[in-house]
Amino acid sequence: MANNLSHKSFKDFEDIPEMDIFQRAKAHEEYLDYLKVSGYMNYRLLVTSGCGPEVTLEEFGTIRKGSYVSFVCNDYLGFTQHPEIKKAAMAGIEKYGTGAGASPLIGGYFEYHQALEDKLSAFFKRPKGSAIVYTTGYTSNSASLQCLLKKDDIAIVDMAVHASVYEGIQGTTVKRFLHNNLEALERILINVRDKYRTKMVIVDGVYSQDGDMAPLKNILDVTHQYGGVLLVDDAHGIGVIGETGRGAMEYFKVMNQVDIITGTFSKTFSNVGGYVIADPQLIAYLQFQSRQYAFSAAATPAISAVSRAIDLVDEEPFWQKKLWENIDYYRSGLTSLGLDIGTTSSAIIPVKIGDIEKNCEAGKLLLECGIYTNPIMYPAVSLKDARIRMSLMATHTKEHLDKALNAFDYINKKLNIALSI
Ligand code: PMP
Repeated sequence: MANNLSHKSFKDFEDIPEMDIFQRAKAHEEYLDYLKVSGYMNYRLLVTSGCGPEVTLEEFGTIRKGSYVSFVCNDYLGFTQHPEIKKAAMAGIEKYGTGAGASPLIGGYFEYHQALEDKLSAFFKRPKGSAIVYTTGYTSNSASLQCLLKKDDIAIVDMAVHASVYEGIQGTTVKRFLHNNLEALERILINVRDKYRTKMVIVDGVYSQDGDMAPLKNILDVTHQYGGVLLVDDAHGIGVIGETGRGAMEYFKVMNQVDIITGTFSKTFSNVGGYVIADPQLIAYLQFQSRQYAFSAAATPAISAVSRAIDLVDEEPFWQKKLWENIDYYRSGLTSLGLDIGTTSSAIIPVKIGDIEKNCEAGKLLLECGIYTNPIMYPAVSLKDARIRMSLMATHTKEHLDKALNAFDYINKKLNIALSI
């Protein structure tokens, strides 16, 4: 059975011909058991400490209970543990209670929501009314796109955009272009000229698997040249990229020209939820027309913490500086071991391994060395592009990074994962 299952991925269990839901769940459980017994079950591990550069894991399968250096948290500036941000969450709960009680349209729109919208508009240097808050980063994409793009429109998407974008564009025409390939994008824009009402180009500022950036200036120019609208999801760029942490748009000096910005509170802003930034008329349209905003309860008062986190990006720039010292140190450590970290230019660092089984083995050995990472495989990346994915934090210490580099050195000797020179 193990042999059989070693070539499978979670994707294989999405749908299985002839199997009803119970048979499918049974087949899926066999796969989970295989992962657990093989020591490849790096998913949904139970953490008994807070989010941070070091976490405590419960025993699970071959995984021992104890402390691990963690690279799985997208809390880039370490703000989930920032005393002032915790205090702001508690103050929000103290004043307003634990829930909003209704969707924003029917009683769940509170002053802490409006304060956060204003804070977001100001952060992105837009007029008041330019922001809407959703309860996840995922719905910031899926809900807004589902609302804006209909069948006579077109979404032109970079192949590597997040799953939430794909969910949002199911009801519209879709064309995908090769990752970061400007010629391919231009070709599509030329071909679809005059054929659709709204032509929306959708890219990430920083891509979540390779950690590379989109060439936003060129993408913006070509999009506008052919009458398109540009949406940038900068979930992983905010707080990390750009002189003041305004993301890839700040880095490429296009912050005011990007038509629609989407993002999340779950990474740098250390909470849960997300936002869309756009022209105030478009924001008002989303407020009344996007189904998830209208029919789902508003964010809880704990989201008051996000307003404080936004301030702290500006007030305490040393976190971003420390993050970059860590990124530079870690990247050069990995490359001097001969490992392939691809084209990353952010806090997301992949070590590309290629082969799925070797990748699983690397994830297992890393755990044995006390290092918790995410082995990423198909369908999150293409079949031959398996990698260990890591997120760096400002609060990683040099000792944490050295421990991981030593582990990679050891694993490389065992599995031979370095680039052949
Ligand atoms: N966009 C991108 C690029 C992401 O990587 C993610 C999730 N990691 C999301 C959107 C969804 O954000 P959230 O997890 O906050 O719902």
